Amino acid sequence: MIRLDGKETSNTIKEEIKVQVTEMKAKGERVPHLAAVLVGTDGASLTYVGSKVRSCEYVGFDSTLIQLEETITEEALLAQIDTLNKDERLDGYIVQLPLPKHIDEEKILLAIDPKKDVDGFHPANFGRMALDLDAFIPATPFGIMQLLERYKVPTSGKHCVVVGRSHIVGRPISILMSQKGPAGDATVTVAHSRTQNLAELTRQADIVVMALGIPEYLTADMVKEGAAIIDVGITRVADESHPKGYVIKGDVAFDEVAAKASYITPVPGGVGPMTIAMLLKNTLLARQWNQA
Ligand code: NDP
Repeated sequence: MIRLDGKETSNTIKEEIKVQVTEMKAKGERVPHLAAVLVGTDGASLTYVGSKVRSCEYVGFDSTLIQLEETITEEALLAQIDTLNKDERLDGYIVQLPLPKHIDEEKILLAIDPKKDVDGFHPANFGRMALDLDAFIPATPFGIMQLLERYKVPTSGKHCVVVGRSHIVGRPISILMSQKGPAGDATVTVAHSRTQNLAELTRQADIVVMALGIPEYLTADMVKEGAAIIDVGITRVADESHPKGYVIKGDVAFDEVAAKASYITPVPGGVGPMTIAMLLKNTLLARQWNQA
């Protein structure tokens, strides 16, 4: 059984990006610039945005953190988005979700210039991705594709069952894995909460992607011997014996499933760490595409 190490792989990708940025600097080119918009002071959002900004600094990107009051109006936020769209020194930006309840998230995401939408949430990017055109792919499915490709997990002609159909994970990964090319060419089944006899499907799968958010849902009796297992789930489960009072669990009962698997991602340390690396990759792509 091979563990797909997201921590190590994401570090490798960051180092690769760092080398490219060093080369850009040596040639006197402007380095990629990412901005992050944070509305309010939600603790988890602050932590996520903080690590995105630190990662930018690590690889040599320019970064800007735009912190806005929780009470900002939708109109004022849209005006800020317009400013960012017009800022030629900025290659890409993200708006950290969730936004306060009085702001329509969809309206904000639609206002982002697709050429700067490094989160890949704009319908223009989603459509381009589905049509095999150059696009910003959402970081989590992009990260899964990189893990599959870099570890040479066989996907061509294999049956992949994706559990979950969300717009940020399940749906895009099902599209990507069914497309032609590296980590693709799979025959994909998409399962969701209305799926009947899920275990019968997962038992037939050569690859199972779990993205539903129910801790340890996939058990050993639901997988066939030698299957590759990708666990996207991240759930905090209360655990008083732990200093933080909780532990992070994936959607897979790791120990028992690992004993049957050919490849498996751990949680934490699997898909999760890939996310920021892929955001950086998208920002580098934005820099390259925008200068063309
Ligand atoms: P959503 O809640 O948006 O989607 C969950 C999906 O799972 C839905 O399609 C739902 O079906 C399906 N589902 C729910 N219950 C069942 C069931 N019993 N059987 C089959 N399918 C079911 O979640 P996300 O896609 O946003 O996230 C999924 C998990 O991945 C979460 O734990 C999240 O924290 C984690 N995550 C991790 C990331 C990372 O970086 N590693 C990034 C993003 C998410 P239906 O559509 O019918 O409701």
